[in-house]
Amino acid sequence: MIQSLRGMRDIAGREARIFQWIEERARYFFELYGYREIKLPVMERTELFSRGIGDESDIVQKEMYTFEDRKGRSVTLRPEGTAGVVRHYIENGFDKRDPLKKFYYSGAMFRYERPQKGRYRQFYQFGVEAFGMESPLIDADTIAMLVDYFRDIGIESPLVKVNNIGCPGCRPDYNRALQGYLRNHEERLCPDCRKRIETNPLRVLDCKRESCRKVVADSPDIADFLCDSCRSYDEEFQKLLSARKIPFERDRFLVRGLDYYVKTVFEIHGGEGAQNALMGGGRYDGLVEALGGQPVPGFGFAIGVDRLASLLMETSLFEDDPGKLFMVWNLEEQALLLEKCDILRKCGVSVDFLPDKRSFSNQLKYAHRQGYRHVVILGEEEALSEQIHLKNMETGDETYVSPYDIIEHLI
Ligand SMILES: [Zn+2]
Ligand SMILES: [Zn+2]
Repeated sequence: MIQSLRGMRDIAGREARIFQWIEERARYFFELYGYREIKLPVMERTELFSRGIGDESDIVQKEMYTFEDRKGRSVTLRPEGTAGVVRHYIENGFDKRDPLKKFYYSGAMFRYERPQKGRYRQFYQFGVEAFGMESPLIDADTIAMLVDYFRDIGIESPLVKVNNIGCPGCRPDYNRALQGYLRNHEERLCPDCRKRIETNPLRVLDCKRESCRKVVADSPDIADFLCDSCRSYDEEFQKLLSARKIPFERDRFLVRGLDYYVKTVFEIHGGEGAQNALMGGGRYDGLVEALGGQPVPGFGFAIGVDRLASLLMETSLFEDDPGKLFMVWNLEEQALLLEKCDILRKCGVSVDFLPDKRSFSNQLKYAHRQGYRHVVILGEEEALSEQIHLKNMETGDETYVSPYDIIEHLI
């Protein structure tokens, strides 16, 4: 027997149904808000990710599936989606002549991580990127889209956490103040954070260790360091969220890992007190330039589908989803079965049957085991009728209905 690779898994049955639902609804909402789909290659030149994500990052250092193709070029299975979208944007010259673009993507990503519960080497993400727009309107509108989406798929009380992490004009001042503070408390920080003081002090703010959290609790607040432009941007952004009735709170310890983020960063949590974020994103005004394009502002986010699916697996969503109708049949002329199925399917009803000849009672038992709530009885007599002989498996009631009215009887 050949087994699947470590950290790679199949998604089937109810979970596949939930994946489908998560992605279908995401497409619906993204399109509604003016984003259009882009399908990207799974493999790119390695340098796209090392430049786009950063040579120093864990992803690039330890987690990429990188290998040489048959001509000896270094290629990498995409560990995330943004770099590919930016590559497309620059390659097509949009940054030079047509900068306003809104994309969404969806698909498998690959990271060579130690497999653990909920973490896979092939995982699924979707996300959006809006280019060429530097306005709190796009930040607020996109976050509103996400809140609408999460509520729609069954996350009842999504909570948005926001922060403004400044711009290249004002963040250096803050970094210096933060570094000064952290150096004074160095001995209480974890070894990683001690290194971060010099390399990326902002990241100390979101370290999960208790000792580090205590230190940063009294650290300087970036809100006191924002320049006028960042401050008014943030005020307008929060005003728009309130006007749109988005439940949000400011979290001053919320930062995004990558250097090119500016101004708005955000996360959405499953509700008050929910530990891990459902997703995160923000404004990245330096990324297009970092990958060789013009300095074009961007705003985007990514959502991990696996985690969202595992949350919805805990609900009753699709728990009982055998399809709508099952045909219990006994006919000399088998073509009549397909004819009846065709009529029902044209009415938009999902219909299935067993292709081998079995007794009525045997077929009914099968339908019961599969969890069908309704079956259609199709014998020689019914085959001649325009009416459908419908049986409710829960009550035992039998009725004759027109195929055009059948949907009402199935709810
Ligand atoms: Zn600023
Ligand atoms: Zn730490």
